[in-house]
Amino acid sequence: MQNRRAVVVGAGVAGLASAIVLSKLGWRVALLERRERLKGDDLGMILWASGVRALRALGVDATLDAAGTPVERFEIRNEDRLSSSFGGAMLGADDGTPSVMVHNAMLYEALVSRLGDSVEVHPAVQVDRIDMVDLAAGDATRRWDADLVVAADGIDSPTRPLVAPGSPTVDAGVVVFRGIIPAHRAPERSAEAVEVYGPDRRRFGYGDLGHAGACWWATVPGGMRPESPQIQHELINRWFADWPAPVGKYIAATRPSELTQQSVRYVWPVPGRLHQAAGGSGGLVLMGDAAHGVAPILAQGGSLALEDAVTLGWALRRTPESVPDALASYDRARLPRLKRVARLSRRVHTIASGGRGVTRGLLRAVPDSWVQSQAASLADWQPPR
Ligand SMILES: Cc1cc2nc3c(=O)[nH]c(=O)nc-3n(C[C@H](O)[C@H](O)[C@H](O)COP(=O)(O)OP(=O)(O)OC[C@H]3O[C@@H](n4cnc5c(N)ncnc54)[C@H](O)[C@@H]3O)c2cc1C
Repeated sequence: MQNRRAVVVGAGVAGLASAIVLSKLGWRVALLERRERLKGDDLGMILWASGVRALRALGVDATLDAAGTPVERFEIRNEDRLSSSFGGAMLGADDGTPSVMVHNAMLYEALVSRLGDSVEVHPAVQVDRIDMVDLAAGDATRRWDADLVVAADGIDSPTRPLVAPGSPTVDAGVVVFRGIIPAHRAPERSAEAVEVYGPDRRRFGYGDLGHAGACWWATVPGGMRPESPQIQHELINRWFADWPAPVGKYIAATRPSELTQQSVRYVWPVPGRLHQAAGGSGGLVLMGDAAHGVAPILAQGGSLALEDAVTLGWALRRTPESVPDALASYDRARLPRLKRVARLSRRVHTIASGGRGVTRGLLRAVPDSWVQSQAASLADWQPPR
């Protein structure tokens, strides 16, 4: 596939990873991003062993290159009572791959540093037209011709309806506040990622980012809050006032300027296909949240985006003579897993959104062995060969 041209729309995790994969295969890549600068967010995230394996396949070591901190234990607490827990090692049991907590901006930098010479980055380009006849993408004044268009333009992708008109986004009815605390101010540290389920459909999670500090995330029902960060901080303090330690310590150690909030939506149902043949011998493919933004309760979206890109590389290597055939292989390889993860994420989100009695009762009723086997099956992805 020498001298083939790809356009990647969107430089999030999915777009960067796709650009890396394509440049390694010898494609010339135009990476179009609407933001002025390529940069990650000041947020912590969990990357499961599956995502860490995908990163490795891209040439990025999650702990060395992206400063990820291995998670030794995952815990789910039902108010102050331990409800379920499993060791991080269990998730990478086959090959010892850790799951990590990682600072999003560091992961982002690690990916940017792997972009090959054949990737041309074009910031401040808001793609608003895709020509499916003479395959190309661009805006009102510029156009990039392509043999392959990768739409990695996030959950609100205007490209998804072209491929999968029956897969809209659904409002999950919650907003997530996230805080990041620099190392010198971080409260007690531990190698666990913990999520506490409390009353009124609220949840609070926290984890350690090593030298990058500590992070937490608080899920509350309702929509985005219009108040200033100062008032939001006060509200969070009030909502979680009598929660078990160390919840209050994390909130108290965070400055209002270190808070972000995000409303939660997910794509449902997962598209029945992820690509469309276009421009004669070319094609368009959806990647990452643009294809399958899942409810974030199981922290899977970033890993899935990385897996998508690695699988695209595998499919293009396997069928170098035909982009449409490669994209058909890509769909067959990805769809079963994407559907499984999306279904489970939605189911867990629904349980967590039940009333106090429902969630507490279900958390008690669900056996540890079920949680562990589901977690292991989420993490068991290996790069295709
Ligand atoms: C509250 C919350 C917590 C989460 N926690 C985790 C976690 O712990 N672990 C995890 O793995 N995942 C987590 N996720 C999910 C994860 O953040 C996403 O799945 C992941 O970032 C998706 O990456 P992406 O590249 O597909 O999309 P995005 O990150 O949305 O990137 C899309 C890019 O496309 C650009 N773009 C959009 N439209 C255009 C256009 N028209 N032209 C040009 N550029 C365009 C955007 O500017 C952006 O840079 C969480 C999500 C939420 C909401």
